[in-house]
Amino acid sequence: MIIRIKRGYETKQLDNLIELIKSQGLGVEPTVGTEYTVLAVTGDTNIIDIDRIRAIDIVDGVIRIKEPFKYTGRVNHEENTIVNVSGVKIGGNNFAFIAGPCSVESERQIIEIAKAVKKAGAKILRGGAFKPRTSPYTFQGIGKEGIEILLKAKKEVGLPIVTEITSVKYLDAYSDVDIIQIGARNMQNYELLKEVGKTGKPILLKRGFCNTTEEWLMSAEYVMSEGAKDVILCERGIRSFEPLTRNTLDLSSIPMLKEITHLPIIADPSHASGVARAVKPLSLAAVGAGVDGLMIEVHNDPENALCDGAQSVKPELFKDIADTVKKVLPIYGKVLS
Ligand code: PEP
Ligand code: MN
Repeated sequence: MIIRIKRGYETKQLDNLIELIKSQGLGVEPTVGTEYTVLAVTGDTNIIDIDRIRAIDIVDGVIRIKEPFKYTGRVNHEENTIVNVSGVKIGGNNFAFIAGPCSVESERQIIEIAKAVKKAGAKILRGGAFKPRTSPYTFQGIGKEGIEILLKAKKEVGLPIVTEITSVKYLDAYSDVDIIQIGARNMQNYELLKEVGKTGKPILLKRGFCNTTEEWLMSAEYVMSEGAKDVILCERGIRSFEPLTRNTLDLSSIPMLKEITHLPIIADPSHASGVARAVKPLSLAAVGAGVDGLMIEVHNDPENALCDGAQSVKPELFKDIADTVKKVLPIYGKVLS
């Protein structure tokens, strides 16, 4: 880290600043030039509160040199992480489809959809039991019963499951869940992130719709600093000024994040658009941008779905999307899990 000092500082002020940094166990190398004085700070500079340094009178600016991403960054972990969920691989050159309804509604609904998406090529079943809805007056999910239904489908159809957690108080119900999902609304619920990180299970971390990629990676740092190794990032669209779609799928984030992080990145074109007919083109675009998988909402009766029917594709359309994606995957050097 480099700290640039304002002209006309007093030696006492500079000594105080150097002392403050050293008191945190860091090294400081001052360079006094004719025009400017700079301090090079060495050691684990991630512990420094940059805002506190910037607020000091004689500080003109602070430049971070060290990457702040200790666990998620490529600096300490060059090779791609491949998450392996019961033999289904995501990351590296492995690509997987995750599919299922927005919410678990009944056993019949889940089993029927699970069989259909499996046949079409999905390797992981999704479904929300606890739903974090924008309005408290809308369907909130069927709760623990929903997880039990998903576990039945896992056994009967033979697909690992991913389902969202909304509160640490439900964590016990997730012991047989294969991947725990952290939804967009909870991306910065740090207590929840720490607790799921302790489980050691794979975590699917969705991007908050008003969050930068840096904030997203920092949330993954919370999960990983508690011991979890397998984090899958899910780009699910961000809020923009465009009202035509529910969100805007930020495809630019994918190639840029791939440079910074070794973690697998998947896309969710369903929540990104909110429109079922946009799911196929966005799926293909996301594959082109380099994703390691797709999570798609599939419902057997979208018109009567209790949640997110407008963006849910029918099993036939999911099959068409999967078949088309399978054809282009080799162009991008990916193999289907
Ligand atoms: C979901 O996956 O059903 C969901 C609620 O997604 P998000 O958190 O991205 O809105
Ligand atoms: Mn949904």
